[in-house]
Amino acid sequence: MKTCPPFWFEPAPWVDGAWRQASHRGSDACTVRNPATGALLAEVGRADAGTVTAAIEGAARAGRGWREIPAAARGEVLKRTAAALLSRRDEVARLLTAEQGKPYPQAAGEVDYAASFFQWFGEEARRVHGRIVPHPEPGREFLVEQCPAGVAGLITPWNFPLAQGAKKVAAALAAGCTAVWKPAEATPLIALALAPILAEAGLPPGVLQIVPGKGSVVGPVLAADPRVRVLSLTGSTATGISLMAAAAPGIKRLSLELGGNAPFIILPDADLELVTDQLVRLKMFVSGQVCVTANRIFVHADREGELIERLAARIAALRIGDGLAEGIDAGPLIHTAACRDVRGRVAEAVAAGGRIVAENRSFEDVPGLDQQNFFPPTVVAGVEDSMRLASEEIFGPVIPLLSYRTLPEAVDRANATPYGLAAYVYGTDLARLRAVASALEAGIVGVNEWRPLKAEIPFGGVKQSGIGAEGGEEGIREFLETRVISMPKPGVER
Ligand code: ADP
Repeated sequence: MKTCPPFWFEPAPWVDGAWRQASHRGSDACTVRNPATGALLAEVGRADAGTVTAAIEGAARAGRGWREIPAAARGEVLKRTAAALLSRRDEVARLLTAEQGKPYPQAAGEVDYAASFFQWFGEEARRVHGRIVPHPEPGREFLVEQCPAGVAGLITPWNFPLAQGAKKVAAALAAGCTAVWKPAEATPLIALALAPILAEAGLPPGVLQIVPGKGSVVGPVLAADPRVRVLSLTGSTATGISLMAAAAPGIKRLSLELGGNAPFIILPDADLELVTDQLVRLKMFVSGQVCVTANRIFVHADREGELIERLAARIAALRIGDGLAEGIDAGPLIHTAACRDVRGRVAEAVAAGGRIVAENRSFEDVPGLDQQNFFPPTVVAGVEDSMRLASEEIFGPVIPLLSYRTLPEAVDRANATPYGLAAYVYGTDLARLRAVASALEAGIVGVNEWRPLKAEIPFGGVKQSGIGAEGGEEGIREFLETRVISMPKPGVER
């Protein structure tokens, strides 16, 4: 059994390179518990509006120096951060599991994934450049510059509390922006844990401020302050809508990674052994609390019986429990309310004709668990498009099966959602896979692959799943502004 490591940081806002203890012991603290056991991890001081404003001020001040540092040197800080994260992989992963609940191997994978973004944007920093464009009039030229936008407000969720932060922080800092980061209320510790790591890697004070707090308090302050020029959120579509509205009067740049409702289409010629293995891995990843997880499994009617048999066997073999214990496949959900929500969706589907064909409640026999935070991995067959289990994001370890007869029908139903984040298609005929993948309205399509996200590629949703992209060459552009100088062209006197 692994344990939560001793803290190398303080449970308080990190502003201008120091811990803001003032608000820490007050009544406005948020209690962070291990969702697997209910054990108290920390009381974290919430940043109030004044602290957030002070953080923005400090970031604006630090921005003047940070943007002047050569891009290659800024990149070195980020690459050193990547190396430091990897060298502390075990303790960071243990903290992440204790706070978030995901099994330790998934947490260690998240540390690697977060480090890959610091590495990638550390490399990309030096590739930001402008261009000189010929002027249509004689004796003049245009300089097209790519400039850091200013202070960035970064807001992240609790499902990948380290990696979602890393994607935004690394891109913003590489671009030459400074940033104020508000982690999710359930998972502030892993964000605060990054502060000393960045400082040791050489990040000057004030370049990254970390302000744990309530979204309803911190969000409006970030949105209203004119010094904040970019707002980057990963969260629910509802939060995206409210942030967009709050940012409208200030005409702020927005980068939004929002909810999804990913279809997972199993073509008639799919290898069901591969499908079962990858589908169960995808759905058990962070217990299904992932915006790109498969939400609607479209299986050809002729293959459904075989799929159910295979899924039932795999689900029965899963080990569910405290992510710090050995050999765990799925941990708890983030809190009791999340379980209640998923339970309601499943119950509604069953009342409307859905059938539970597999379920694993083995965690009920494990001592020491906070049982109310666990939800049994469940397969529901006979799901209809109109059920909430299919029409909305589930955010739990539930596999809803929807059967189809023809491919055009499957594609049309897959696209019949306001969301467009991820999609998956499994089969053996490459031409057909390619055609289906192209027809799906999604920011990313995994073909015979359950986890296609990498630092090298842009990831972002279409339709109501978001605006902009993270990762790839595109990720840094979210934090850059294009400016033009039109000036006389110097010439050599003859
Ligand atoms: P989830 O359902 O994944 O918790 P949320 O959208 O509720 O998604 O939360 C994502 C992040 O957005 C969290 O850090 C949360 O505190 C923050 N948040 C919530 N409400 C607001 C808001 N009105 N303005 C800005 N951020 C918010």
